[in-house]
Amino acid sequence: MKLSQPWPEGYTVNKNSPFGYRTDPITRKRKFHHGIDVALPVGTPLTAGADGTVVHKGSGASGGNTLIIMHAPDVYAVYYHLQKPSDLPKGAKVQRGDKVALSGNTGRSTGPHLHFEIRKSKRWGDTVDPMPFFSGAVTPAPLVTDGIMGKKSWAAIQRMLTAKGYYKGAITGRKDRSTVRALQTFLNEGSW
Ligand SMILES: [Zn+2]
Repeated sequence: MKLSQPWPEGYTVNKNSPFGYRTDPITRKRKFHHGIDVALPVGTPLTAGADGTVVHKGSGASGGNTLIIMHAPDVYAVYYHLQKPSDLPKGAKVQRGDKVALSGNTGRSTGPHLHFEIRKSKRWGDTVDPMPFFSGAVTPAPLVTDGIMGKKSWAAIQRMLTAKGYYKGAITGRKDRSTVRALQTFLNEGSW
């Protein structure tokens, strides 16, 4: 699947904010960044990178006004920090290039920009690097995962939570209640 760039020509991805670990711009701590950032003036039109369906529009403390478009069963495009909620209703069909929202500076943001994610499902954290989608390098489904929410990576999650002081149990690799609770605390206190 190839995605068109959902922001206008002339703007590029912030080199300090690629997908993956980076120094958080607010806390200055090393942290996983689930998408890519593109600095854009507030009110810049954003487009659908491919045909799809609006599956979520909402507002959160971190993401601000948010839009999620499903392009394929395992490809969800997430737009954060929008100026205002998208005019599109949930369930709306969109075509590649359609205007879907206006970029903004809402939520946990240090300046006007689009935070753009590709998720393998609608749920938070299930992200993959968006960049290969722009070159059409992903066929037919994304293979790269961030290792945080993958089914087989609960041991890795426990190790990560232990290192950050959120989890004090044994590294069992099992998705038990104490691990999930620790992860939830980490996600609530964290950012992306
Ligand atoms: Zn971001």
